Amino acid sequence: MHKHSKPISGSIIFNSLNGHNTIVLAVNPRILHVVRGIMRAAKDIDAPIIFELARSECNLENGYTGLTPAMFSKGLHEAADDVGHDLWAIHADHIGIKTGNDDEIESTKELISAHIEAGYTSFAIDASHLFNFEGKTVRQELENNIKATTTIAKFIEKRMQDKEFGLEVEVGEIGKEDAHGRVLTTPEEAVAFIQALNENSVYPQVLAIANGSTHGNVYDEHGYPIEQVSIDIPRTKAVVAALKKANLAVNVAQHGITGTPRDLIQSQFPKGGIIKGNVATFWMNLVWDVFKVYEPELYAKIYGWTLDYFRPKFPDMKDKQIFGTYGKFAIAQFFDEIYAVDKSTVRAIEAYAYAESLMFFRAFNSEDTGPIVRAALK
Ligand SMILES: [Zn+2]
Repeated sequence: MHKHSKPISGSIIFNSLNGHNTIVLAVNPRILHVVRGIMRAAKDIDAPIIFELARSECNLENGYTGLTPAMFSKGLHEAADDVGHDLWAIHADHIGIKTGNDDEIESTKELISAHIEAGYTSFAIDASHLFNFEGKTVRQELENNIKATTTIAKFIEKRMQDKEFGLEVEVGEIGKEDAHGRVLTTPEEAVAFIQALNENSVYPQVLAIANGSTHGNVYDEHGYPIEQVSIDIPRTKAVVAALKKANLAVNVAQHGITGTPRDLIQSQFPKGGIIKGNVATFWMNLVWDVFKVYEPELYAKIYGWTLDYFRPKFPDMKDKQIFGTYGKFAIAQFFDEIYAVDKSTVRAIEAYAYAESLMFFRAFNSEDTGPIVRAALK
C-alpha cells in the first residue's frame, strides 16, 4: 500500500538544526511545476525542504499565483507522494499585517484558519510595517509590531491545539530605504523584539531581519539586471551574535536571495546563524526561461499582457525590468494555460529546478542534514 507523505512541523526542522552549520532552503513555488524537481533533489541529497507562499501570492482570493492555501497544499502533497520525500514543511510566508486594525486582524485570522485546515505546519507573521517612528526607546518603536505579532501567534497556537508548528517573525521591513539608503535591523532591535515576544509567551524559532537584501529581481539605475550582493554579512553576524549572547535560541531567515551568486552564499553566508534561506522569484524566472523555448506563444502572451498592463504606470522603465518586476501578476491571469502546458515543458522545468536546487543545497550546506531532523521526529 502506498504511504502518504505528510508535512512536518517547521519547529522540528528549525530546533533540530539549531547549532548546525546549515541553511534550510525555503522555496516559493509561484508556479507549482517546479515542486517535483526540487522535492526530488531534497530527497536525493537527504535534506529537509520548506515550501512557502506569502499572503500576497496565495490567499482566500487566490493571490497573484492563482492559488488558495488548499490548492497549494494539495499540489505539495501530490508531489511529495510521487517523489516519496518525508522531510518537508508547508510554511505561510509573510502573513503581512500593515495597519493592525481590527478588520485586518480578523481577515488575518480567517486566512490562518484556512492555512491550518489545509495542513500548514509553519507560519511567518510579518508586522514589520508597524514601526512607531514616535517611539523614544527601541521597545516603544516596536510596540505595535510586538502587539500584532503576539495576537496572531496566540491565535495560531490556539487553532493548532496541541500540535507543534514553526514560527517566524519579522523585525525591520525587508528592502526598506530612507534618505541614507537601505535601513538595516540593529542587534539591539532584534534582541528587544524577541525578548518582548518571549515575555508574552511567544517563542519564535526564526527571525527575519532587514539586512540589505530586497525581494525580487534587482536592476541598476539604468534598468539593467544586476546580481544581488547588497546583503550586509557583518551586520547579519552581529545580529546572530547578539541573539546568542542574550541566550535566545532564534536564528535568522534570509529573505530576498534571488540574484545572489551561489558561490557568494557558499563562501560568505553564516550558516546556522542564517537557518532559513528564502528563494522565491528565482523559480518563477526559471519557468519563464523554459517557456521562452518550450511555450513561445504562451510566453509572448504573458510578456505582452504584462507590458500592456504596466507600461502606462511606468513609462520610463525598460521592458525587461517591467516584466522582471511585474510579470508575477500574469500568473493568475494565465493560470489555466500555465497549468495546461505540454508534458515535455513540465519535464524541462522539473529537470532545471532539480539542478538549480542542487546548487542551492550545496551552497547552503544542506546535504545529509535529513538524519538530524528525522532523529528529532522520533
Ligand atoms: Zn520575504
